[in-house]
Amino acid sequence: MENNSTLKVASLGSGSKGNATLVSNGEVIVMVDCGFTVKEVLKRLPRLNIEPDQIDGILVTHEHQDHISGVGALSRRFSIPVWSTRGSLLSGKCGNLPELNLIEGFQPFSIGSLDVTPLSVPHDAREPCQFLFTQDELRLAILTDLGCFTPKIVEQLTPCHGILLECNHDEEMLWNGSYPERLKQRVAGRMGHMSNRQAIELLQLMDRDSLQLVIATHLSEQNNCPKLVSTLLAETLSWPVERLKIAGQDSGFGWQEIGLNSSIRAESA
Ligand SMILES: [Zn+2]
Ligand SMILES: [Zn+2]
Repeated sequence: MENNSTLKVASLGSGSKGNATLVSNGEVIVMVDCGFTVKEVLKRLPRLNIEPDQIDGILVTHEHQDHISGVGALSRRFSIPVWSTRGSLLSGKCGNLPELNLIEGFQPFSIGSLDVTPLSVPHDAREPCQFLFTQDELRLAILTDLGCFTPKIVEQLTPCHGILLECNHDEEMLWNGSYPERLKQRVAGRMGHMSNRQAIELLQLMDRDSLQLVIATHLSEQNNCPKLVSTLLAETLSWPVERLKIAGQDSGFGWQEIGLNSSIRAESA
């Protein structure tokens, strides 16, 4: 990639059984969260043509197991520095890290040439954040594990060229489903997870003119249906269903690229 104004994103898997997302600007590659064992990461990385020693940093969104369980082990095994809020770190789930960089909500930082802004989100963790990556004017947001969105988040998404957006559950499926009552309340609550309806509301509020890429993430296997999500998002965006991507728990998704003056270019499935 010679043009600097591009960003690529891929996923090793997305959902309550484990998450790991890769972001690259062509020079720097970071992994956002690692909710998989090192063994599983090594099994999945070749799909994306990436070697573990190419990863320049691991960014932690929060301390829930599906995001943090593999962070410490991967970091130690390949000497990869970690970026985390103090709250996420205080969980103690990372163990000793070879290099740690503390971050705070809405305080931008850089990893080499990659600029990152942590977005504080309402979620039932100690100091959760999600991430906005910028490359010149280009902006890619990862927004999962949030019970609701705030005006400050919407502000940060203006403009936005690519978004990984949590579509956790269909409200009807959740309430009619088999989860225990307390878990239903937690998932649906303001500190839980975004429903399809909330994701659509956010997309409707956002400036959609620049949007090239929308990927639905963190879908509940019990309380959602990928086909339903694609249809809802396609209707909201007036895009063909084929243009929308759904991140799978096992499959994640292959590299997707956004760029200024370019449309989506998928390099692999
Ligand atoms: Zn999660
Ligand atoms: Zn979570």
